[in-house]
Amino acid sequence: MPQVYNFAAGPAVLPAEVVKQVQQELTSYQKSGMSILEISHRSSLFTNLQTAAENDLRQLMQIPVDYDVLFLQGGATLQFTMTALNLAHKTGKIAFVDTGHWSQRAIQEASLLPDIKPTVIASGKESKFTALPDIPEISENFDYVHLTINNTIEGTMYHQLPVNLKHQSVVADMSSIILGYNYQVKDFDLIYAGAQKNIGPAGLTVVILKHELLKNIPDLPAMLSYPKQVKKNSTLNTPPVFAIYTAGLVFKWLLSQGGVAAMQQQNEIKAQLLYDEIANSKLYHSPVTVADRSLTNIPFVTGSKELDTEFVVRATEKGLLNLKGHRLVGGMRASLYNAMPLAGVKQLVEFMQQFEMNHE
Ligand code: PMP
Repeated sequence: MPQVYNFAAGPAVLPAEVVKQVQQELTSYQKSGMSILEISHRSSLFTNLQTAAENDLRQLMQIPVDYDVLFLQGGATLQFTMTALNLAHKTGKIAFVDTGHWSQRAIQEASLLPDIKPTVIASGKESKFTALPDIPEISENFDYVHLTINNTIEGTMYHQLPVNLKHQSVVADMSSIILGYNYQVKDFDLIYAGAQKNIGPAGLTVVILKHELLKNIPDLPAMLSYPKQVKKNSTLNTPPVFAIYTAGLVFKWLLSQGGVAAMQQQNEIKAQLLYDEIANSKLYHSPVTVADRSLTNIPFVTGSKELDTEFVVRATEKGLLNLKGHRLVGGMRASLYNAMPLAGVKQLVEFMQQFEMNHE
C-alpha cells in the first residue's frame, strides 16, 4: 500500500503509532486474553484506562483542579443542547457569536428549547464568515456567551480569548482545535469537543467544566445532566470504551511529543507552509482574512470550479486524500490536525506547485 495522507476534517488522521498499537493489542488487552472491544466498563481494566486518560488530558491542557472532565457521547452537536439546558437557567439568555455554520447550528439547537432566548451579539455574516467579528462590550446579563473557537468549515480561529469576553462566562466549542493550540482552560467556564478530529475516533465527546457550574442546575434527564454525569464519572450508562481507550493512547502520544505547546509549534510550521504556498502562487487563493486564519482547517480555491474538481481528482491519485472543500464553501480544504505529519504537508505543497505548473 503506497503512503497516503488523509486531510479529512473529521473523522480524521490519527497518529500512525497509535493505530499500530491498537492493532498490536487488539486481540488481548494488557494480557487479559480479552479484546478492548470486549471488556466491561465496570472492570478495573476500563476504570484504570479511563482514569489514566483523564489524568493525561488534565496534564496536557493544564486543567485546573476545580474543573471536571467528562467523556460523553452524542458528539459536539448534543453539547449545543446540553450546554443550554444545564447552564441557561438564570436569565434564560445566551449570547452567541455567529462565526459560521457550526455556531449557527448551536444557535438553532438552543432556540428549540423552551424558555431559552439566544441573542446574536456579533456576526461574521457581512464578510461571509471569512473574518471573525469583533465582539462588543457586553452590558446585558447573559447566562453565558457561546463561542466557536475554530470554524472547521470557514477556516477561521480565535487565537486568544477576545478581550470583551474576559469577564464573561464563556462556553467554547473547541472541536477542531482542542489540543492543537495552547488555550488557557481557566479562561472558559466550559469547553466541549467531538473527539473525531484531534482526540481519537468518533463516538466520544470531551467536556471540561468548572465544578462551580454544577450548583443550581435544574433536575434533568440523567443523560442530559452534567451533575448526574459528573456524579457517575461519565459511566451513567455504557460509555464508548474503545473510543476512550484510543483517546487515551493519543493523549500518551501527545505527551511523548512534548504536549500541546509542541503541537502548536508544529501546527504553526505546517500551516505556514501551506499559507505561504497559497500566497506565493498565482493559482491558489485563500478566502480568509490573514489575522483570523485557522491552523487546523485551511480552505483554498483556484477560482475555477472545474480546476478545483480536477485538483481533488489528481491529488487523490497521488495519495493526498479528502481535500474536497465543504459543500457550503466549495474549493479545497486541507485539515492539518496534530497527527498530520510535516511530510504530508510538504507533499501537498509539492503537488500544488506541480499542478500549477501544469496549468499555466
Ligand atoms: N462543532 C464544530 C466546530 C465542528 O467542526 C463539528 C463537526 N465537524 C461539530 C461541532 C459537530 O460535531 P459532531 O459531529 O461531533 O456532533
